[in-house]
Amino acid sequence: MRYSKLFGKTIRGVSSDEPSKNAKLLTRGGFVRREVAGVYNYLPLGLRVLNKISNIVREEMDKTGAQEVLLSALQNKANWEKTGRWDSFDALYKVKSRQATEYALGPTHEEVLVPLVRQFVSSYRDLPLYLYQIQVKFRDEARAKSGVLRSREFLMKDLYSFNRDEQDFDKYYDRVINAYKNIFKKSGVEAVLTEASGGEFSKFSHEFQVLTENGEDEIIYCPGGDFSQNVEIARVKEGKQCDLGHGPLKKSKSIEVGNIFPLKTRFSDAFGLTYKGQDGKQKPVIMGCYGLGISRLMGAIVEVHNDEKGIIWPKEVAPFDVHLVHIEDPGTESWAKGAYEKLTYAGIDALWDDRENVSAGEKFADADLIGIPVRLVISKKVGEGEVEWKNRDSKETKMMSIDETAKKLTS
Ligand code: ATP
Ligand code: MG
Repeated sequence: MRYSKLFGKTIRGVSSDEPSKNAKLLTRGGFVRREVAGVYNYLPLGLRVLNKISNIVREEMDKTGAQEVLLSALQNKANWEKTGRWDSFDALYKVKSRQATEYALGPTHEEVLVPLVRQFVSSYRDLPLYLYQIQVKFRDEARAKSGVLRSREFLMKDLYSFNRDEQDFDKYYDRVINAYKNIFKKSGVEAVLTEASGGEFSKFSHEFQVLTENGEDEIIYCPGGDFSQNVEIARVKEGKQCDLGHGPLKKSKSIEVGNIFPLKTRFSDAFGLTYKGQDGKQKPVIMGCYGLGISRLMGAIVEVHNDEKGIIWPKEVAPFDVHLVHIEDPGTESWAKGAYEKLTYAGIDALWDDRENVSAGEKFADADLIGIPVRLVISKKVGEGEVEWKNRDSKETKMMSIDETAKKLTS
């Protein structure tokens, strides 16, 4: 992709109306633009990151045996009344049609999915069933000051499990914990599995919390990694010795990037979702739900991976593999094009800064701000057929032939 043609450019200087670090950097880098408070437009760079994360999530969800669906955002009011949540769900947006029909604008999808599953599940043979989607959710959040971490419209992956009994459910729940661990690891963040309250449905839930001073949550955790609780419910105090000898428990601000919990029969009961067991008896389906904030995760990655110059994307979620910077020297016009074509042919996604009359300093500053993990410079000094390789998170540079570069990037 030629940077000169890319929709959305960097802006220098800080946009003062974005209070959070993630929104500041994502706005300056040309990834997002705010529509209204708590609502963001994703430009090509931003969408590339969301898609990278979504594909990591898809791969891991599919591995658990889940199938992808896409459910409606406009939802049937009657179903929300059936679960009692039309009145009790604080953040629910309600919209009215010209015919005065009211709808819920989906903040979550139990009210859509459970009646749908009921149409297809009647016997023990139809279970287990695992369904997920990646979709825009709407929540009327009271505050929206954390950029893409807490917005009123955001991208979420939500998975729902349907099992015959608690034992089956428990096994799947553990499988999802594993899948989440893989997702966060691949996305370049460490997310601490944290015990939290279960809200209205059950005694407990599990959150995945990314440690950072800019988080809204707070957890108490063992530095050895065997224990963590959300401060809202924590039964232990900071400083207490860990039972397994890892030293005093620590407290940290954190961002909840995922939340998984048992739903038991809360929604199966509301919609009469039962199945006929092998013994011929009707039984309620045991459910669980598993959320992961895709756009929030993007923000959390930015909060964790940045420096004074800009974002530093982990490789797997970066919008491009390399940032090719061409420094205009007479006689080098064709060099960058040649390099770009070679890299592209090798299957490497390059963002090529081909702008004319832009100084080397400005191009480097933009590359640092955008944060693609590898920068490749092409200039007279570097020489034909060669590039200067620099990782975004390091000061070292290295000369390399383009062939060698392509090999290194694809190995
Ligand atoms: P929170 O406690 O942060 O308000 P929640 O517990 O209400 O979130 P869930 O219903 O568990 O959220 O949603 C699943 C995931 O969706 C969360 O773990 C989070 O990553 C993401 N998420 C929730 N609300 C928002 C929001 N307003 N903006 C962006 N992501 C969100
Ligand atoms: Mg939650």
